[in-house]
Amino acid sequence: MHPQVVWFKRDLRLHDHAPLLAAAAHGPVLPLYIVEPELWTQADRSFRHWQFIQSSLRDLQHALRSLGGVLQIERGEVIEVLRHFKKRIGPFELWSYEETGNAWTFARDRQVVSWCRTEGIRWHELPANGVVRRLRNRDGWAAARNAVMQAPCVPAPTQLRFLAFANEELANDRSSAALEEPIVGMASAGRVQAGGRREGLAVLESFLQSRSSRYMRTISKPGISARHCSRLSAHIAYGTLSVREIDQAAAARQALLADEPNPGSAEWARQLQAFRSRLAWRCHFVQKLEQQPAIEFRCMHPAFEGMRGSESRADFFDAWREGRTGYPLIDACMRSLQANGWITFRMRALLVSFASYHLWLDWRLTAPVLAQLFTDYEPGIHYSQFQMQSGVTGINAVRIYNPVKQSIEHDPEGKFIRRYLPELRDLPDELIHEPWKADSPPRDYPPPVVEHEAAARDARQKMAPYWRGKEFRDQAREVFRKLGSRNRPTETRRRAKARATTKAKAATVATTSASTQMSLGLDEAD
Ligand SMILES: Cc1cc2nc3c(=O)[nH]c(=O)nc-3n(C[C@H](O)[C@H](O)[C@H](O)COP(=O)(O)OP(=O)(O)OC[C@H]3O[C@@H](n4cnc5c(N)ncnc54)[C@H](O)[C@@H]3O)c2cc1C
Repeated sequence: MHPQVVWFKRDLRLHDHAPLLAAAAHGPVLPLYIVEPELWTQADRSFRHWQFIQSSLRDLQHALRSLGGVLQIERGEVIEVLRHFKKRIGPFELWSYEETGNAWTFARDRQVVSWCRTEGIRWHELPANGVVRRLRNRDGWAAARNAVMQAPCVPAPTQLRFLAFANEELANDRSSAALEEPIVGMASAGRVQAGGRREGLAVLESFLQSRSSRYMRTISKPGISARHCSRLSAHIAYGTLSVREIDQAAAARQALLADEPNPGSAEWARQLQAFRSRLAWRCHFVQKLEQQPAIEFRCMHPAFEGMRGSESRADFFDAWREGRTGYPLIDACMRSLQANGWITFRMRALLVSFASYHLWLDWRLTAPVLAQLFTDYEPGIHYSQFQMQSGVTGINAVRIYNPVKQSIEHDPEGKFIRRYLPELRDLPDELIHEPWKADSPPRDYPPPVVEHEAAARDARQKMAPYWRGKEFRDQAREVFRKLGSRNRPTETRRRAKARATTKAKAATVATTSASTQMSLGLDEAD
């Protein structure tokens, strides 16, 4: 029986790990993680990501040790590492999950495929997280995804037959060194959420048992959402928990709550339904990148390709990135992200909307900045959301958020703003959202970098011509055919959506629902 090398990538767990179980049925297992130096030089990577991975690897190492084995951790390029193992252990089979990553990991995987072919090594790549590979369009995708979510989780092995090394001690030392050595050129910045499966399970438990009761009521509040959102995103991104196990645990809790007689429990069960919808969106967005890897670099709708590019202003970019645009909520969000590595969905959307419309910055310039700051960076969600919030998909409503209205609505007393902008601490509540209106504005806080209403109007005017014509509509249809959600709203959801849209209109400077897009009926959930 050949050795079975299990290559852990973004699936740092033993539970619900199909490649591990399948590999174990074929022969002695060598669990492997590879720290790839070139990956860590990519513009979308940061030390924050590595720190989360590092703590998750320590936890995985612990779990494998309790089964009597070791996670072999190596530093180097993948083919170089695999070649080294082939020399040491002879022919092997390779197992992993399919990865929907950035262009760099995609190119690396293609090289691994070709190397395996040349060397006569079988690489078994199994589907991950409800994503379907080689899908031509979106018809039938949701049913396929839901079937995966409803199938039983693959149990964690209770025993494993590990491949024995001639020199176990040396193998252990190599792993420890590869795990603990610093990554060249990367330094610590801000706080980082703790990784690892044990931590992930604790976070899931506290969310389902208590924190989720106020999920939807707090989801857009920049301060308290940190407590009431699940905070599972980084655990899902690096696979310490599987989406399926989270969905099934939430469904079980939801069913229990729905059976309880008091109305509060029924309401709580609905919060969990909203949470599970977001898990489905996650798969939906990652599927977009899987089907069209070019969305990391190119606008989904080709008409928008050159719309902003050459006009991006360096001074606006710096002000946005450094959290000194003069708009308190925008700046507090950016500084809180720098400090903590997480912020809630609405504030991510606001940061991008402000950069893309008010400051007219190209999303390709701003996306890597937030990718580095988000501990939970997930390319599939990230680029799809950046494009949506920048108005370049051609199939989503254009939302230009008003940074002052958002501030008043979601941080009415300015608590969040004061926490991250100490220079505004002494301003009274009525000025905290618009410090430039003070008789003597704080000297150490900048005036607004643009005037928001004029900037939003300008953006709308610049965008309008792009939304016209038959060619635009035909291309938008094609984007929708390939990447759009097939979720048809039911009557109740349609009504709820209509109410939400009216509310959103009131909260934004303008919801430019270009007539083309409305006539195509191509909106999808955000
Ligand atoms: C510009 C922009 C960039 C984003 N980049 C990322 C990213 O790199 N990684 C990432 O995980 N999320 C990203 N999101 C989506 C969302 O903001 C985060 O998933 C969420 O805030 C994570 O916190 P949570 O786990 O507490 O979420 P919860 O609200 O508890 O949601 C549970 C899970 O559902 C998924 N989810 C939630 N909201 C969305 C959404 N709108 N779209 C897709 N999936 C969703 C996530 O996996 C999340 O962990 C981005 C959103 C925007 C607007």
